[in-house]
Amino acid sequence: MERRHFLTRITLGMSASVILPRLPLFSASPAEELYKIHPQNPEKKLGVALVGLGYYSTNQLAPALKETRNCYLAGIVSGTDEKTDTWKEKYNIPEKNIYNYENFDSIKDNPDIDIVYVVLPNAMHGEYTIRAAKAGKHVICEKPMEVTVEKCKEMIKVCKENNRLLSIGYRLHFEPHHQYMMESGQNKKFGRVRKIVGEHGFKIQDSVWRLDQELAGGGPLMDLGIYSIQGACYTLGEDPIAVTAKFGEITDKKKFKEVEQSISWQMEFPGGTVADCKTSYAEGLNLLRAEAEKGWFELSPAYSYGGIKGETSEGKMNLPNVNQQALQMDDFANCVLNNKQSKVSGEMGLRDVKIMMAIYEAARNGKRVKIV
Ligand code: NAD
Repeated sequence: MERRHFLTRITLGMSASVILPRLPLFSASPAEELYKIHPQNPEKKLGVALVGLGYYSTNQLAPALKETRNCYLAGIVSGTDEKTDTWKEKYNIPEKNIYNYENFDSIKDNPDIDIVYVVLPNAMHGEYTIRAAKAGKHVICEKPMEVTVEKCKEMIKVCKENNRLLSIGYRLHFEPHHQYMMESGQNKKFGRVRKIVGEHGFKIQDSVWRLDQELAGGGPLMDLGIYSIQGACYTLGEDPIAVTAKFGEITDKKKFKEVEQSISWQMEFPGGTVADCKTSYAEGLNLLRAEAEKGWFELSPAYSYGGIKGETSEGKMNLPNVNQQALQMDDFANCVLNNKQSKVSGEMGLRDVKIMMAIYEAARNGKRVKIV
């Protein structure tokens, strides 16, 4: 399956017929209910500046910022004049809120911008997060947080030193089907979860940076496998203690000169559960499944922007699809307004980069690697 086939557009507030046990989200008006946990601040909407106007900013974040209630698209940072001209007109962005990569640091003098959202190639996340925090802005940084553990630690440190909040673009924490996985797994709705299966992949087209080791930090694991790592951790409410892994065969040697084409790995959790995962840039995969003592629950497709479907051993989930990015950004704006840590924090981003580095080490050495 190609990426574009499963990235369908979605809106807030589709109807729901199932009421979750402990998440009082889906009664009469789902959109309003969802926003009870993301309340609108009537006095001030926070200004967001998107850094990097590529695929994700253009097709997901900017449209989502039209649906947010606590924040809005106030500024842009780009290296391409044609892009900024188009965006300026389309989103009514004043000239004074448009930056390039050279003059970006002067954003510190702009009171319209409260939050900088870094949507650049992975190995650029650290630099722009750090520059934004030093400019006095709160930061959302896209996943994966960075390409090394050291850089992630530095990002956390600089945000703390500058008293700025840091969040990672983990949109699925705000998605009802994934919240069902968290609730059911952690509350043992189907008994103790014994096994998790996580699979995510698509056929990659030529990419400017995703196949470049230096800019991407790795292949599908960094880009897509991270979703299965997340899914396993939040379904269980635990962090893995060790991993084993194996690189898949490279069938397209021209494309995969620097990064893996596919990789499969196992994560051991403290309670004894094992997560069996796979990710690929050469095949369509999209599953998060939990097998428990008294039943199973799964999402397929699991990680798309819309059209997520869930089923359990008791029947279909019938939960609404929402604008994940709008809820994610509103939640962070709410954190900023209330000076509270995001539930998808920099520390969570660091944890996941640590896990991915351990997976690569395990695949290279063929050994079980403990996560410390
Ligand atoms: P993209 O290639 O479409 O856009 C990247 C942007 O960075 C472009 O505007 C490009 O001009 C700019 N850029 C600046 N310097 C660059 C350089 N040296 N090399 C290449 N590009 C450079 O990528 P994308 O799909 O928008 O991904 C951007 C980030 O967002 C990645 O970290 C990715 O993992 C993340 N992402 C997250 C999600 C999600 O669901 N949370 C989805 C897609 C992408």
